[in-house]
Amino acid sequence: MKIRTRMAPSPTGNLHIGTARTTLFNWLFARHHGGEFILRIEDTDLERSSKEYEENIIEGLKWLGLNWDNPEIYRQSERLDIYEEYLVKLLDQGKAFWCYHTKDELEDERKQQVVNKEAPRHICSHKHHPPAETGGEKIIRLAVNSQLDRKIGWEDVIRGHIEFEEGLLGNFSLAKDLRIPLYNFAVVADDITMEISHVIRGEDHISNTPKQLLIYEALGAKPPVFAHNSMIYGPDKAKLSKRHGATSISEYRKDYLPEAILNFMGFLGFTYSHEILSKEEMAKEFDLAKVHKSAAIFDQKKLNWVNSRYIKKLSAADLKKLVGKEIPDIAIPLITERLEKISDAGDFNYLWEKPEYEAALLIWRGHSREDTKLALEKIARALAPLDFFSPDQLKIILDEVAADVSAKIQLPKTDRGLAYWPLRVALSGHEKSPDPVELALVLGKEKTLERVVGAIEIIG
Ligand code: GLU
Repeated sequence: MKIRTRMAPSPTGNLHIGTARTTLFNWLFARHHGGEFILRIEDTDLERSSKEYEENIIEGLKWLGLNWDNPEIYRQSERLDIYEEYLVKLLDQGKAFWCYHTKDELEDERKQQVVNKEAPRHICSHKHHPPAETGGEKIIRLAVNSQLDRKIGWEDVIRGHIEFEEGLLGNFSLAKDLRIPLYNFAVVADDITMEISHVIRGEDHISNTPKQLLIYEALGAKPPVFAHNSMIYGPDKAKLSKRHGATSISEYRKDYLPEAILNFMGFLGFTYSHEILSKEEMAKEFDLAKVHKSAAIFDQKKLNWVNSRYIKKLSAADLKKLVGKEIPDIAIPLITERLEKISDAGDFNYLWEKPEYEAALLIWRGHSREDTKLALEKIARALAPLDFFSPDQLKIILDEVAADVSAKIQLPKTDRGLAYWPLRVALSGHEKSPDPVELALVLGKEKTLERVVGAIEIIG
């Protein structure tokens, strides 16, 4: 059997992290088996679909690197002839019919079923073909035998055997008109014509599956293998939503690397032999039967950690391009070692721009302006004659300055903060930064001295 999977997003919103994760699983499964992965845009719901969302989804998948094998993107809106042909066939064979019940009639039926504690569904009493010339409300439904207590079931690769009672499904609808197909029908017509072997999708579609199986049966086609993966939940075990933070892939693009997102998403329902791996490495290990049934929990901290691992591997050129700044090469490792998110690189802008800060920040806790000024002057004097900086030499200088100033103000022992703190602020403008010795090494003698002298002026 040729393995062919598909992702069939509806362009009714931006590319959601859950959709991206299911796309990844379809991609991994197809690649594992040397099969094909198809992208199809399910845009038959004209009111809710938009070109803008379609573009967002396509752009997002491209950015992630989840490439599809169909040269042109399939769109349901461009396949109406196919649906019409299938619908006419079903109507001609009496396997589908036109129903003329009004919305009010359907509502009354539903209310009565609720009173009787029955499953709400439509059991149609007037089944028409060809369509009556009433001009009123009409819809095409499947001729399900509602009296049957036959079970409609399948072996779900992820969840095991699942079954529903046919009689509880009612005469569900297929299309509003010959050229207005509804989801369950269009999806089956597409999966048949595109020869999809495995449908991997979210568990929210489980209740659609028995309906789709009945449509396969009516069309005389063999259904694909189904696998329903769990939804993604927030740490509070509620379905992932805006409340938990960003949910669309486009919101992640400024802060995260696509490889990191893929790596992270790969673990939302599967366990690999090690933690950091490319999509190709994931594809090698991926096994649909081992996808977890239990809920996948979205852990932002884990995502940040995975992202930091990929940032460390960035080349200087790529980091500069992503941050959009001319970062000096010598500063690159200092930054990549510390970043969890790309945009946090802005916190290190003192490495390529002169920092701004208030004079008060220079003063080490519990000490005076004069002590700080004295320490900075001593540092400047010690650094000025040096030809180059070495870490050991810088430490010796700073320790000596701290010892001198501490002795002068009669502290019982040396307070190293007296030298290290003002140097940190002079070089970074921040309370928190990498070690000031490391900063001085990266900035080099000229800039370091310039900033220390600048700090002396600021403290006045
Ligand atoms: N258009 C459907 C959705 O976005 C596709 C479901 C399926 O994979 O069958 O949920």
